[in-house]
Order: sequence, then structure tokens, then C-alpha cells
Amino acid sequence: MAVKQLVYYPQDEAKLRQLSKPVANLKNRRLKRLIQDLKDTLEAQPGAAIAAPQIGELKRLIVAKFGQDDDADEEPMLTLINPEIIEAGPLETGFDGCLSIPDIYTWDTPRPSWIRFRALGEDGGEIIRQVTGMDARVLHHEIDHLDGILFLDRLRDPDELYTPVADDDGNMKMIRLTDLPRIVR
Ligand SMILES: [Zn+2]
Repeated sequence: MAVKQLVYYPQDEAKLRQLSKPVANLKNRRLKRLIQDLKDTLEAQPGAAIAAPQIGELKRLIVAKFGQDDDADEEPMLTLINPEIIEAGPLETGFDGCLSIPDIYTWDTPRPSWIRFRALGEDGGEIIRQVTGMDARVLHHEIDHLDGILFLDRLRDPDELYTPVADDDGNMKMIRLTDLPRIVR
């Protein structure tokens, strides 16, 4: 049980591009330790969810805190083993950010507006559930990690990337990355 070192883009990109393998044995003690490590690591981060490859373990395993829409209450951490999308709604363009790509955000990635999914829980029981809005975006983002896909790959416009920068009054503002050189000068 430990907070693990995150795998970062671009320096660890090769690791983030791997295809993760399904979890075969749920009774495994090593799996229990990995789930706890993922929870501890997510707890120490500002994110809503984390996928095992983000701590260098190529297993189809996610820990997520649903309830991310503004009008919702954040739920406790939920472990999703071998998650699969059963059905998905139409794409909606919206917000994305990634623990493995710190300080870079976008409002430009299309993701399903709702997802009906299946997964196994920590106790081995089947979870079938539907999530909408930001929770669907979070789940889709994490399943992407299991397939080696990053949100950068899904941008409609590759220049639609923003980073927080303090203005003269010390207020944080989101600045487009392509506009940064003008500000630094
Ligand atoms: Zn991510």
C-alpha cells in the first residue's frame, strides 16, 4: 500500500502507449495490492480517476470517483476490473485533463454523452451501470488508457490545449499553449 510514481507524458510515452491485459485471476494477492496502490495514488492526486498503466502496470484496471458533474456529489472510489463499454450515446465535445499530462487541459475532445458499461468489482461481482456527462467522459478517458490512447489523440483541433498561468494580479488564467511565447516575452 503505497503512493506510486506516476507515468508521465512525454517522457514515459512508450509505457502509456501499451495495450493492457485483462485481469485473469481475481483472488490474487498481488491484484489486491495493486488496487490499493491505485487508490492510494489517486487519493494523493487532484484527479477523478486513474488507470493501472498510469503507475506502470499493464492491467485492465481502473479506480474512479463518479459524481463529477457540478450538480452531483462525488462518490467513493470504485474499482472497475476489465471494464467494457456495452453501449454509448452520441459524442459530445468537452473537457479533458490527465494526471499523466500535468497542467495541460482542453475543452475539445469528443466523448460519449453516456456509457452503459460492464466490469467486475473488487469482490468479483459484476457491475453493470450507466454513467452520463462528466462521469462518462472520465470512464471513456480511463478505458482509453487501457488501450494506449491519450486525450491528445482525440483533440479535434491540435492547438486547443491550455495551461494555467498567473496574470499580473496573480489570478490564474487558462492560456492557450500556442499563445505562451507572446506572454513569456
Ligand atoms: Zn489520463
